[in-house]
Amino acid sequence: MADLPTIDEALALVLAHTRPLAAEEVTVADASGRYAAEDARAVVDLPPFASSAMDGYAVRAVDTPGELRVVGASAAGRPAQVALGAGEAIEISTGAVVPEGADAVVPIERTQPGITVEGVSAGENVRPRGGDVRAGEVVVAAGARIGPPQVGALAAAGVVTVRCARRPRVAVLATGTELRRPGEPLGPGEIYESNSLLLSAQLRAAGAEPILLDAVADDEAATRAALERGLDADVLITSGGVSVGPHDLVRPALAELGAHEVFWRVAVKPGKPIAFATRGDALVFGLPGNPVSSLVGFELFVRPALRALQGALDPKPEFRAGVLGASLRRGPDRDELVRARLRDGVLEPVAGQESHMIGRTASADALVLVPRGDGELEQGSAVSWLAL
Ligand code: AMP
Ligand code: MG
Repeated sequence: MADLPTIDEALALVLAHTRPLAAEEVTVADASGRYAAEDARAVVDLPPFASSAMDGYAVRAVDTPGELRVVGASAAGRPAQVALGAGEAIEISTGAVVPEGADAVVPIERTQPGITVEGVSAGENVRPRGGDVRAGEVVVAAGARIGPPQVGALAAAGVVTVRCARRPRVAVLATGTELRRPGEPLGPGEIYESNSLLLSAQLRAAGAEPILLDAVADDEAATRAALERGLDADVLITSGGVSVGPHDLVRPALAELGAHEVFWRVAVKPGKPIAFATRGDALVFGLPGNPVSSLVGFELFVRPALRALQGALDPKPEFRAGVLGASLRRGPDRDELVRARLRDGVLEPVAGQESHMIGRTASADALVLVPRGDGELEQGSAVSWLAL
């Protein structure tokens, strides 16, 4: 077992076989959750004109404090028709153009009817043109994820579309004679097929388009035919059938279809028998059937690959720093991902860590990395964890 690739080694192999997909033009409204394929630059200065930060009066700072004559009004979207002269004030609202000649705004709270204004200094309550971002500046850099703040920034800066790698199309194939669709009655020895639904949820959250293939029984011809269909996608994820049993048919079928196996088995628990292969530009992940193994394999290897396909600058899993709430025995040979609940900043392992226990996983919100080693990882240890 010592010769199995570590998580990092296996991930490096996956990423070495992963190139960003072709870019397409996407409206800013639809870009949320995607990655910029090239720098997106501001079209206009932001703000596009010097504007008021307050409701009040636009003035010349040198005229304050004092009594001023109101000669016009500047409302948001409706600039004043006059310029400001000495001893004058122009009524102004938040976001309105600061009129020519004015260099400060006296907030309404600092004025008396008539109008007498308190003293202000030049620039006070004025948002200078381009003070946020200047036209031509990079708002979202190539490889950055476009989340809600970036959508807001791009829209404000006048950007209409951004170039993003297209979304990966990902075929999902569950294998196993024992699998039934939820809703159907269970016969003897049968279980509900849950992995393809779990994987679809993970895929959607990762910005991919899932294509659910019909589950196949452990039959060579059926498995091969289904795999062939799945290989048309950018990524094919299979579930089950990658272990060493007589009914584990996925790897030999992939080999017959001309797929090149990059690795099989990783020094990780759960999910050791994971397989990774390529055929042409298609990536194939053979995830073990135990639902928690599938979940963990996705987070460690598939999600980073999907990020890389979408052009992410840093596609690796986003481990965070945390504190372990209970002592855990380490494995001598394999790094382990332990399901845990995050409570007040402490990671409490969930009771029941076997790889079939998807039911108990429902109460977990984290995967804690327990590096291989001797003895125990003690309560209070600093650990890395992934959010679920
Ligand atoms: P396998 O990797 O095919 O040997 O399957 C390992 C375990 O996971 C077995 O107990 C299977 O019944 C179970 N399993 C396989 N595929 C699925 C699936 N799609 N949904 C739920 N459980 C599964
Ligand atoms: Mg099976």
